[in-house]
Amino acid sequence: LTVALAYAALLEEEATGHMREHLDQVVRAAMQLKSDIDAMVSLQQIDTGEAQVKLVDMEIAQAVNSALENLHLLAERKKQRVNVELPPDLPLVRADRRVLYLILSNLLSNAIKFTPDEGSIFISAHVAGDNVLTTIKDTGIGIPKGELERIFERFYQVEDSLRREHGGIGLGLAIAREMAELTGGVIGVESEVGRGSTFSLSLPRA
Ligand code: ADP
Repeated sequence: LTVALAYAALLEEEATGHMREHLDQVVRAAMQLKSDIDAMVSLQQIDTGEAQVKLVDMEIAQAVNSALENLHLLAERKKQRVNVELPPDLPLVRADRRVLYLILSNLLSNAIKFTPDEGSIFISAHVAGDNVLTTIKDTGIGIPKGELERIFERFYQVEDSLRREHGGIGLGLAIAREMAELTGGVIGVESEVGRGSTFSLSLPRA
């Protein structure tokens, strides 16, 4: 897959007109497939107990910035506003670097995906007892009450959002929640259909 992706990307660079558009589709499909395979490998590692986590004291801001760095273009393409408000004196959290990045990337990419053009996304964090709560709030399509727990099941997708055109196979939230649990974190969600969703990640303070 990596070879197919590399050659398709190379051809895309050299192509023009329709051919370039078609190759762009090939590259996107291959990238999606790669990310689906990575997701399934992650779940396999959780199931077999091979998923390794290394807890360190770290800044939420650093992980938020890395996730944003990779995803801000997607939001810009949809003319969405991403507001980040992190208090400068936010305490460090105890977390696994890769896992925290993966969770925030999943939540943020969903927020972008399920929010229409020109919507807004708010990222904030505050101390809650012994934990730091990070929230990602969107002004998107929302999730019906009856589906709020089911969306964390593997491969589960809300039917209405399925009809919309977006990538993904319904593994992102399952991985995010299961990985969070491995590191002592908890993911929650509140939502109102048509108004938006707020996902939260609670992590122990360092
Ligand atoms: P995927 O994004 O690949 O479909 P996820 O596991 O990340 O899979 O999400 C599962 C489902 O939960 C999505 O298909 C969608 O129906 C719903 N969902 C997740 N995040 C949001 C959100 N921010 N707003 C509305 N629906 C969401």
